[in-house]
Amino acid sequence: MSISQNLQKVSQSLPKGVKLVAVSKFHPEEELLEAYNAGQRVFGESHEQELSRKVKTLPTDIRWHFIGHLQTNKVRFIAPYISLIEAVDSLKLLREIDKQAARCGRVIDVLLELHIAEEVSKYGFTLDACRELLDSGVWRELNNVRICGLMMMASNVDDEQQIRREMMTAADFFDEVKGRWFSTADYFCERSWGMSDDYPIAVECRSTMVRVGTMIFGPRVY
Ligand SMILES: *Cc1c(COP(=O)(O)O)cnc(C)c1O
Repeated sequence: MSISQNLQKVSQSLPKGVKLVAVSKFHPEEELLEAYNAGQRVFGESHEQELSRKVKTLPTDIRWHFIGHLQTNKVRFIAPYISLIEAVDSLKLLREIDKQAARCGRVIDVLLELHIAEEVSKYGFTLDACRELLDSGVWRELNNVRICGLMMMASNVDDEQQIRREMMTAADFFDEVKGRWFSTADYFCERSWGMSDDYPIAVECRSTMVRVGTMIFGPRVY
């Protein structure tokens, strides 16, 4: 199957209101363009240099999501154009995004990354660390970042029940955070979970944004 056929298949399987981020890391520009020509506008990348290279040659109406771990010293390179930074995992990073966004005269949308899975990633806030950050209120003074929701990766396991448990933990935590800190903020509405292997489960666990790479572009060659 071609990229456009894969894309169509994934898109059609998503309920209305669930956004598709085409994860294009390690895939060449031609392949992104094929997805673009099939109508895809939101792409996810996880390496600053690769992203900066692609941004230069691809159409300017693409909305780029940074989905990987972002080092603070890389923020300034993507701040002028990034549409959503999905994996904010520290206050230090949040502050740097705010600073660089201010320099560009922008407000940058971000998601807070949760660490729920047993071992898939060493990054992300535990639920308690996330509560602590939000309780501190310091983020309220960062006028050039806007926290739009939560992101997480489930464990990379075959046990569907475990994946479901982790994603439901994230979904319930979203409700808590929304209720306690963002009840009047319409923009706090995103739940980013689900990848090629588990996005159908994610959708059942109230995901609003799935990040799908392999199912669209095929396996990555590292
Ligand atoms: C690579 C990546 C994905 C996409 O994974 P696939 O299994 O190829 O769909 C999703 N989210 C994050 C954070 C990633 O790094």
